[in-house]
Amino acid sequence: MFDFVVIGAGFAGSVIAERAANVLGKKVLVVEKREHIGGNCYDEKISDVLVHRYGPHLFHTNSKAVFDYLSRFTEWELYHHKVLAFVDGQKVPIPFNLNTMYALFPFSLAKTIEKKLLSKYGYGEKVPILTLRKESDKDLKFLSDFVYEKIFKHYTAKQWGVSPEEIAPEVTARVPVSISKDDRYFTDRYQAVPKEGYSKVFEKMLDHPNIEVMLGTDCDTLLRFDFGEGKVYLNDKVFNGKIVYTGMIDALFDFKFGHLPYRSLDLVFETMNKSSFQKTATVNYPNDYDFTRITEFKHIHPTSTDTTVILKEYPKTYIAKRDIPFYPVFTQQNHELYEKYKKEAQRFANVIFVGRLAEYRYYDMDDVVKRALDVFEEKLYE
Ligand code: FAD
Ligand code: UDP
Repeated sequence: MFDFVVIGAGFAGSVIAERAANVLGKKVLVVEKREHIGGNCYDEKISDVLVHRYGPHLFHTNSKAVFDYLSRFTEWELYHHKVLAFVDGQKVPIPFNLNTMYALFPFSLAKTIEKKLLSKYGYGEKVPILTLRKESDKDLKFLSDFVYEKIFKHYTAKQWGVSPEEIAPEVTARVPVSISKDDRYFTDRYQAVPKEGYSKVFEKMLDHPNIEVMLGTDCDTLLRFDFGEGKVYLNDKVFNGKIVYTGMIDALFDFKFGHLPYRSLDLVFETMNKSSFQKTATVNYPNDYDFTRITEFKHIHPTSTDTTVILKEYPKTYIAKRDIPFYPVFTQQNHELYEKYKKEAQRFANVIFVGRLAEYRYYDMDDVVKRALDVFEEKLYE
């Protein structure tokens, strides 16, 4: 009775389900093991403050196509994310930029380094810390050692359990040193949050007579993947429609080559009887405490309540069945392990793997939406 079965109701699954129903007129079953749609982007109210249940989610993209597509399901509130880091007793702007340098260094030293940065890289350039570390000039080396030590080393140790050199360079390059006075965390062309929050976006995407959503249902209970035959059974009958799988790829194959490692988080929310707690939405604590950052949601979704809600993120190793697999861990070895699963996945001609877990990629929301739209066009549009 269904043409498509989509496993997971995060952005990857919801985009495909929406496109299959609206563009192709297909009947779609969405199977989601959590009790809600939206995956890790899910938000809900605590004490009248809209909070992101699985950590702060800030939408930013340079893709007009992605922004236009999502705009069908929401109006936006313009929002530019600002982050401070607590360093040497001060709260200074992150990404580390010229303002951060003037706040932390004596004026004459900051001036000397600024001149050198401008002549070497030019205003507006963004330099990953691991690139800056290759500088031999004594002042630039002083800068890179400082930034490495005070911003990246201990934060990365908390977040990933390793040093910045032991993970893929793209990870720390997400927050490059910025040769500018722009204190925004992102510089993308489109930056905003959905006016009524992310959960409402998903409700609109999945609100279609052709889409049935089953919550609280692990796909294991409905689907059986026969690896020998390369066939999938839905309620014990061979299913010849399309299957879109957005869960962990290693779990689907019973971890036959071993577990793909993830990092997880303990997310600790606190409601406070005061109208505000900190100056910016997020404050990072690279060198202090066991949590990496505190986010105060009223900055993201303003409300005029007397209470405020904050979130502390405590990173930890992901343990199967206990934790949520939030971050794939990028090392060459893990990439090679993923490639084995990817090859195995080709046994199933009618199963498509999309999303952060299924592709073991550090996708942001816009990346996932783009990827799902591309997969739809390339593999499902008929
Ligand atoms: P998910 O959202 O994980 O959805 C997958 C869904 O599949 C889940 O709901 C899961 O329950 C379900 N599922 C898995 N296995 C099964 C199964 N066997 N049966 C049934 N259902 C199953 N991106 C940004 O752009 N900006 C940000 O500021 C940002 N902040 C983030 C902060 C944190 C702490 C984290 C963890 C991520 C952040 N992201 C951010 C990334 C964003 O969350 C992802 O890009 C996006 O959620 C990926 O969507 P997805 O559909 O691939 O995965
Ligand atoms: N990072 C850091 N110090 C900071 C901010 C980021 O060391 O103050 C590093 C850390 O390794 C982190 C990565 O940069 O995991 C990417 O940061 P981002 O804020 O993009 O992480 P996310 O929001 O995805 O958790």
